[in-house]
Amino acid sequence: MDEFELIKKFFDLNKIGSGVVIGIGDDGAVLEPNINMHQVQVIDTLVENIHFPSTIDPADIAYRAVMTNLSDIAAMGAIPRWMTLSLTVNNVNYKWYEKFSNGLFEASNSYQVSLVGGDLNFGPNISVTISISGEIKPDQALLRNGAEIGDSIYVTGTIGDAAAGLEFLKKNKQNNYLTQRFLRPTPRINTGRELIGKATAAIDISDGLLGDLKKILVDGNLGADIQLDLLPISKALSNHFNSDKCYSFALNGGDDYELCFTAKDEDVSNISGVTRIGSLNNSGSILCHLQDNIYKFEDESYRHFE
Ligand code: ADP
Ligand code: MG
Repeated sequence: MDEFELIKKFFDLNKIGSGVVIGIGDDGAVLEPNINMHQVQVIDTLVENIHFPSTIDPADIAYRAVMTNLSDIAAMGAIPRWMTLSLTVNNVNYKWYEKFSNGLFEASNSYQVSLVGGDLNFGPNISVTISISGEIKPDQALLRNGAEIGDSIYVTGTIGDAAAGLEFLKKNKQNNYLTQRFLRPTPRINTGRELIGKATAAIDISDGLLGDLKKILVDGNLGADIQLDLLPISKALSNHFNSDKCYSFALNGGDDYELCFTAKDEDVSNISGVTRIGSLNNSGSILCHLQDNIYKFEDESYRHFE
């Protein structure tokens, strides 16, 4: 199969999606944004052996690549619409493309995102770059820089699962719940939408709670108190690991793609699926508390090129 046939068979599968004037097949896509909306653009690359083990199913590679992008869209409070895909593969076979394509469209269809273009390259490692554009009303985007002293800190879902799941995968062990949390993250699009006008700052947790929380403490005076016994830890995680290890996964483990946001409690009291884990102060640093003690932690969150 040549490149053109591969695209036709595995990628040119969206019948004309909403707002797609010209989709796959021309030199560029022509898209029709909704009137008076601002566009939110995100992009993320996943590289074999860096962001995922080479042993995982191609459907999961694709699914995860879509969801990590959608998580950025969620963290902005936007509605996702269109995506493009730049795929680099080594000598993969027909079956690989089929699985990849299934995972890709399973993920994008569940959020009504249309694939409107891309490219296909050959290289030594598998690399998947997806870019998604979304829409939001002017001045509604959730930003990283609005947190204030006294705000509470919240997270969605449970945290620490994906990092534990990745450990299982690396050891070729199975734990269905935890490994699925790594392979098939859930972008919190609906919660992001609900937080518009309510969260003072928001970010998605891709590198680990502590590392990502730091990124919203942009004013140097801002600090945080985190109550470890408030952290939302899944039964699957606490059944497998002692509490120290659970805290370590929850604080420093990446890949959860949950949202972390700050808000006044009264503004978010009717939002479900979120947990208050602490509050902001003027100390300039993050302290974790366990009952009356200060809990020592290492900031091990994942950073490239350090
Ligand atoms: P060009 O050489 O002009 O960049 P290509 O021949 O690479 O165009 O691609 C032809 C069409 O197929 C374009 O519309 C492009 O967006 C689309 N396309 C190529 N690869 C992919 C892919 N992996 N997924 C989706 N669309 C793709
Ligand atoms: Mg061209």
